[in-house]
Formats: sequence, structure tokens, C-alpha cells
Amino acid sequence: MKRLTFLFNFFTLLLLIFGFGVVAQPNDRWKAGSALLLTDTVQTLYCFVETEANPWLESEKTNMIASLESAQHWLVQQAGHWNVPLFFKNSPLENAETISFDSITTGTGSGRERVDWIKKVVQNAGYRNSRQAFRKLSVKLHNDNILVVVFAHSDGISYAMRYAKGMSKKKYIMEGILVYQRYDNGAEMPVSCIVSHEILHLYGAWDLYRTYAQTLEKQAKARELYPNDIMLRVDYAMETLKIDRLTAWLLGWNSTEEEIFEWFRPDDYRK
Ligand SMILES: [Zn+2]
Repeated sequence: MKRLTFLFNFFTLLLLIFGFGVVAQPNDRWKAGSALLLTDTVQTLYCFVETEANPWLESEKTNMIASLESAQHWLVQQAGHWNVPLFFKNSPLENAETISFDSITTGTGSGRERVDWIKKVVQNAGYRNSRQAFRKLSVKLHNDNILVVVFAHSDGISYAMRYAKGMSKKKYIMEGILVYQRYDNGAEMPVSCIVSHEILHLYGAWDLYRTYAQTLEKQAKARELYPNDIMLRVDYAMETLKIDRLTAWLLGWNSTEEEIFEWFRPDDYRK
């Protein structure tokens, strides 16, 4: 028995030393929230938010679900290129598939958007807070790799809501993305592509285009090195896009680190 314990401790130690060799992200962020790791089975819970004056049409909802599925199909294909097993299971957020709010704020890509959407929607589903929802849902769904997709019947710049250790678990442990129907100027939007891009943020991917937290210089370099990476650009023709070496490394899919990777770190993913 003692010997077994010793062996167990020995292997645990080995795992601690070598098992997490591919750590592109600071540990307070990576694998910190409900969107654990982009591998194996990821449970997606989705819901639709609207205002009374501007409700979703059934046909629009159907289109959004179809876009979600093609986003996931694309991610699974990309994972396959990196020999990573990936599956998605989808279900509506129970009791709260459609939620009406007094108003829905517009995302403007400023980095100051409201980040408590997931808490709000799980509360509508009857949970006390994010932490309780995550605990109960992970038992019920036999999975602790869960993300929430909130579709807003409104225009805006979609965004991801990530958890980091030290943040309030009650508010933020459940991670998810807010997806608008159109861009903030009312223009049509490649929804599948946006959904994939935002899901990747939950698992650690960095923006490679210019944002409030990313520089023009890095965008220019990314255009040279990773011209088709989905974190650099979106496209209606999703088959022209890919998850390139840097993004794959950030996800833990690519274990071959290159010296330049770290240089691309944007301000909103500071170590
Ligand atoms: Zn982004």
C-alpha cells in the first residue's frame, strides 16, 4: 500500500513537472473558468435575449442555431488538423431559451462592455448565481467543460466573457459569448465565423487584428505570418480560414513554441 502511495505521488509529481509543459497562458486564466479546454466534449448552452419591442422571429433563431453548428463543425475540423479530439453538444439553456430584457446594450468593441450577461441569463434559468449554475449544470450534464452562447437580437460587436482566478465566481465562473445579429452599423455579419472566433477567445486565443488592446504593428506582422488565421480576420468563406500555429499553441493544440509567439500578446491578455 505504501509503495502504491509512493508511486502515485511520484507520478503526480512527474505530471506536475512535465504534464503541463505547454502553458501558453498564465495559470490564473487558462482552464480557470467553465470553458475548461478546447478538447474532448464541450457542452454548449444557448439562449436568445430580446426586448419586448424587438423580439426574435423563429426563422431568425433557426438561422442562428445553424450558424452555431457550422461554427462548431469548423472548429472540429480544425482540431482534427492538429490531431485534437473535439466534440460539441448543444442544448438550450433550460427554462430560459428566450429572455426578454428592458434594453440590450450595444457592443462597440471598446473593452468596456457589460460582462455579467452569463450571470443574468443563468439567473433567468432559476439559478442563484454563476457558481451555483456551473456546479449544478456540470453534475447534470456530466461535463465540467461548459460555455454559454447568448444571442442578442440587436446590433453590435460580439465579444467573449472570460473568467480569471481572483474574479468573483458568483458573477463570472460560467464563461460565454455574446453574439449580436448584425454589426453595430447594422451591416450583415458572418455569424459562424464570429461565433468560432469568440469561442476561441474563451480558450485563450488572442486577437491578431488591431483592437483597443492590440497594435497595428502586430496586425501587420500577423498578416505576413498567419494571413488566414481566424483571430486575424473573418470571412463568409470559412473554408479559407484556419487555426494557425500561434492560435493553436495558445489553445494547447500545438506544442511547438516559436520565439515570436509571445510578442503577439495583446494588452487584454497580460501575464
Ligand atoms: Zn476577438
